[in-house]
Amino acid sequence: MPARTKYTSIGTIERKTRGQPKHLGNLNFDNTYSRLPKSFFQTIAPKPVSDPKLIRLNKSLAKELGMDPSIVEQQNLDIFAGNATPMKSKQIAMAYAGHQFGNWVPRLGDGRAVLIGEVLDENGRRRDIQLKGSGPTLFSRMGDGRATIGPVIREYIVSEGMAALNIPTTRSLAIVTTGELVARERMEPGAILTRVASSHIRVGTFQYFYGQQDEDAIRKLADYTINRHYPSAAKDSNPYVGFLRSVVNRTAELISSWMLVGFIHGVMNTDNSSISGETIDYGPCAFMDGFYPNKVFSSIDTLGRYAYDQQPAVGLWNLSRFAETLLCIINSNKEKATVEARAVLETYWPTFEKHFHIGLCQKIGLDHNEENLSLTFRLLDCMSETRADFTNTFRNLPKLFTAPDIFDLETEEKLKFHKEFAEWSNEWKTKIAEQTASLDATWRNMYEINPLFIPRNHQIQRVIDFAIDADDYQPLDQMLTAITDPFTENAELKHLAKQPKPEEEIRQTFCGT
Ligand code: AMP
Ligand code: MG
Repeated sequence: MPARTKYTSIGTIERKTRGQPKHLGNLNFDNTYSRLPKSFFQTIAPKPVSDPKLIRLNKSLAKELGMDPSIVEQQNLDIFAGNATPMKSKQIAMAYAGHQFGNWVPRLGDGRAVLIGEVLDENGRRRDIQLKGSGPTLFSRMGDGRATIGPVIREYIVSEGMAALNIPTTRSLAIVTTGELVARERMEPGAILTRVASSHIRVGTFQYFYGQQDEDAIRKLADYTINRHYPSAAKDSNPYVGFLRSVVNRTAELISSWMLVGFIHGVMNTDNSSISGETIDYGPCAFMDGFYPNKVFSSIDTLGRYAYDQQPAVGLWNLSRFAETLLCIINSNKEKATVEARAVLETYWPTFEKHFHIGLCQKIGLDHNEENLSLTFRLLDCMSETRADFTNTFRNLPKLFTAPDIFDLETEEKLKFHKEFAEWSNEWKTKIAEQTASLDATWRNMYEINPLFIPRNHQIQRVIDFAIDADDYQPLDQMLTAITDPFTENAELKHLAKQPKPEEEIRQTFCGT
């Protein structure tokens, strides 16, 4: 009998699967803040809502977090609405204090938000996932803990616009409507924003414990924050001085980047000033249309404390309040601690100016030097005298060479009849022509930093009106397409690059909380 062929088993080869599709609930949660002492937060679940609907999911951000954006479905919706809890979540409202318009408030805290946890994203970056508008907490005071669709849409648009402009910011992952009405000046549709941040630690978080003279808590919070955001400060001969230095640098850079795009935060209270250096808490914020250095939008900022040109100084004011909270851990000798902290705060203006001045020269396509800087300031003078559109003036400068008629048209001829501007443009053209860089390369660089699309106020309002009055979110989609790709020409969306006509202009914004 012939020997039977022996076959060697190689076992079963597993079909390669890509693992379970990830929804928000099964991401890699690791909630470090909730492991801090209990006095740092309140453990609280969002208050469920009656009829949630998903209005918008930010697919690219979802992917970045490790979610599969194609499975929006019920599980995600329930989490975004606060009707379900992700498996490994630990839901908390964070405690903080703050100076509001300069007035000390010892306890603010998350009065209408719940942190559902921290997720390690695809790149190992730790991100807070927070629901804003999720119901009352210990910190709600007189508020209802809810948000309405208008401010939620505004925050979604502006934060995503800022991210696309490469400005550090909290992000927006999703908008849901709650199916419930919320009482404001009138009844408005309730909504919840899912906010993503590198953390929600604020100057006000440190101030909360400073107000209670709780040195132990300040030290714990500082150690935690250094570890989370500024690990290199731990190597400094005095880690808390290194920490302060890092926050000063980041804040100076952040505010200079706001100034370079004409952004007005509107409510730079210390509780709205993040320690990570991200733009946070979009309330009555707005981008300027016509340039006006002391422009204020916010209806409650009657003294112009947070006007466009006040922002750099307010940044330092907030950092000074932050530094005060660290004095006790910088050095047990208060005088020595003060000297060290002051020395760090003194680096704020040079750091701010360096970034701002380099950025300004880049905006007009020139290298950074004193002469070019003063040329930029002369342009700003012409712009403020004519109220020329901040965004379009810079964006269209190359057209002074290539298509002067279009330049006039697209900046609404405001600068055309300005005598100084005519002189300015001749000088600028001579300088550009003298540069070694080719004209094409110069224009390319300018187009990469001077946006075509910014979230203009009148357009945001139009998007909100369509949402509320007609349940129509197409204008939102269209606007997001423009502002998330702000440097690229887009013939179909050209109308969104236009400054408002006088009758369209919005002169005031509201907190709308
Ligand atoms: P903000 O205007 O976002 O800087 O909020 C300032 C403070 O007011 C924070 O403590 C918020 O949590 C709280 N707050 C704002 N709106 C509400 C609201 N609708 N319900 C409860 N607390 C709120
Ligand atoms: Mg706030």
